[in-house]
Amino acid sequence: MPATLFRKVWDLHTVRTLPNGQTQLFVGLHLIHEVTSPQAFDMLRARGLPVRFPDRTIATVDHIVPTRDQRRPFTDLMAEDMLSALERNCREHGIRLFDLSSGQQGIVHVIGPELGITQPGLTIACGDSHTSTHGAFGAVAFGIGTSQVRDVLASQTLAMDPLKVRRISVDGRLAPGVYAKDVILEIISRLGVNGGVGYAYEYAGDAISRMSMDERMTICNMSIEGGARVGYVNPDDTTVEYLRGRRFAPQGDAFEAAAAWWRSMASGSDARYDDEVRLDASQIRPRVTWGINPEQSISVDERLPAPEQMPPDARSSVSEALEFMGFGAGQPIKGTRIDVAFVGSCTNARLSDLREAARVVRGHRVARHVKALVVPGSQSVRSAAEREGLDRVFTEAGFEWRGAGCSMCLAMNQDRLEGRQICASSSNRNFKGRQGSPTGRTLLMSPAMVAAAAVAGEVVDVREFTTHGD
Ligand code: SF4
Repeated sequence: MPATLFRKVWDLHTVRTLPNGQTQLFVGLHLIHEVTSPQAFDMLRARGLPVRFPDRTIATVDHIVPTRDQRRPFTDLMAEDMLSALERNCREHGIRLFDLSSGQQGIVHVIGPELGITQPGLTIACGDSHTSTHGAFGAVAFGIGTSQVRDVLASQTLAMDPLKVRRISVDGRLAPGVYAKDVILEIISRLGVNGGVGYAYEYAGDAISRMSMDERMTICNMSIEGGARVGYVNPDDTTVEYLRGRRFAPQGDAFEAAAAWWRSMASGSDARYDDEVRLDASQIRPRVTWGINPEQSISVDERLPAPEQMPPDARSSVSEALEFMGFGAGQPIKGTRIDVAFVGSCTNARLSDLREAARVVRGHRVARHVKALVVPGSQSVRSAAEREGLDRVFTEAGFEWRGAGCSMCLAMNQDRLEGRQICASSSNRNFKGRQGSPTGRTLLMSPAMVAAAAVAGEVVDVREFTTHGD
């Protein structure tokens, strides 16, 4: 059948059509963390319900964990309470928890893939918007709210509306200094923050095929920032080789059988799409956001837009963004002085991201006025980076080397902007207040661009970056 991966996975997981026309969808894997699960477990307890499939439920702690001192009890009592509640709930319901003592704790969207829990052909749900990350493996993965977390805990199913599928083909070669982050910022800039509402995004084209799994995860991660609840890449050799030998992937002959099935889930060459978009990878340049949503980005060598040059329906949001950011229409983004540099988050805190940032930083010093931190996406990423000596590259340059967690992506721990600080950040959201200060400002960019900005003390073009510093 000429079906897309989305359609195949959806149909395989359909339990029935509900009277209201929605699909009751089986959830193959439920990922939970400490922030969106406590209330869901309380609701379950109030109804006297067990967790329906504890073995399809995996927990980690990421959002609230301190990254400087992770000894228990945490000094932040609310964080300590949230982690204790998760531990209690997992114990009570027989759910596997990757806690701080496991050696494999980390951001939920980093540990699922690296443990081989995330696999092609699955439906995956998690109480976090960036669950789309797992689509890099050819899974149909989406974020859910707390009441849906309850529904999945109780029934392992959800009432869902099917999505249309837009294929976004990226062909051609990326220039040096241009990364997956720049590709997804370009896509969101073109299609808008609401352009993907009602769609799953299928990323295709030879530029995507050449990407590593880490890069594909960066792309899929930010699908939701373009309004698409689901983003995915068809499974191929890169997917299969990434999963081979991972702890929770099938082993031996079972792996080969699984790999054959995973490949069969890819969209057919004659699959029909509801919409198609094409991009030329060679035209993409390093991008930086200048506003208050991820659509508001420009290439690093461009100037900020003027409201009057924008379509009428975009003028007020551009004016609002310029005012909040304290930027003027037409000013270059290059040269914008920064206060904080953050390499971290489920978008860009994998080993390859840290390697790229370290490559830029090596032999330089962080500018005197900049506070710079690297927060690995998981304990495994942290250990692997330390084995390669990346921690020393960062600390010798003046970066702080932290424990794994979400950290300044959303500032639910002590890692926060202060006042009007400007942060060069490898995370995924530049909303007002996202990094902990209501007036703090976020410039999203690739980890290499963050590293270059940290050293220069201002936004620079990583392609031209040679030597800056004290
Ligand atoms: S790093 Fe940010 S986006 Fe990712 S799971 Fe944590 S809070 Fe959510």
